[in-house]
Amino acid sequence: MLQVRLDPGLPAGRWACVRPLCGHDEQALVAGGGLAATELLDRLLVEVPGTCVGPGSAWQLSVCDRDRLLAGVYAATFSDRIDTEVPCDHCDEGTAVSFSLAAMVASSQPSNEGRTQLGIISGPDDGCVYELDDGIRFRLPNGHDQREVAGLDPERARVEILRRCVLDGSEADRRTVGDMPTEVWDRVEAAMAYLGPTVDHELMIACHECGEARAVRFDIQQYLLRALEQERRYLTQEIHYLACSYGWSQAEILGLSRDDRRAYVEFITAERAARRERTR
Ligand SMILES: [Zn+2]
Repeated sequence: MLQVRLDPGLPAGRWACVRPLCGHDEQALVAGGGLAATELLDRLLVEVPGTCVGPGSAWQLSVCDRDRLLAGVYAATFSDRIDTEVPCDHCDEGTAVSFSLAAMVASSQPSNEGRTQLGIISGPDDGCVYELDDGIRFRLPNGHDQREVAGLDPERARVEILRRCVLDGSEADRRTVGDMPTEVWDRVEAAMAYLGPTVDHELMIACHECGEARAVRFDIQQYLLRALEQERRYLTQEIHYLACSYGWSQAEILGLSRDDRRAYVEFITAERAARRERTR
């Protein structure tokens, strides 16, 4: 079981436990979109003594905590190391890119010095609320907020996120966020981005062959979903192997953790290979 410290977490808990993926999770995956990754995380959260961040909580998690958990899920399922190849638009050669997810997450964590520079004087409090030196109180955007603004044009989405996350003033005041001084909302947005870094980065990659530089976006949600989608085609074959060898039902096989299922399949394929070798 993977245990991850959350920052800011939820009033219900400051850390979360995530169980390993099983076949049911892989089968339930809907291709594409950030919502699918949050839905997957929601299935994997386990409520244990000491934290109430369990199933149903993923949408309430700040997007930075959600991404931190998804990075942990990727590392536990595949590897902490991201190895990929980026094609060059200029010469068509591919450039290998390799980095550690844990190092990427650690490098973007806020420091006390950065908080001071942005005028963040406190937070997160017990309600996961932060305060700026001009008295503005806010929380970080979460999955609910993202779901609500999905499909809006970027400027309307920006105003709506601020309206939902800035907590001072009456409900009527909050509806007028768009009329407030731009510099105030710029400050809140800068503080939100600093305190809640997502695992969604633009990387500058220089081509090994011709030196041409290009920006490549790495988004843990898309990367995790794509990796699972690519492996899903093996699932049916693995179910077939296990059903033939052990007589287990499809539901029993899908209930196995992905690691256990794959370990059994490896035994079966090794035995089959050894048998073939003996009968030659
Ligand atoms: Zn090139």
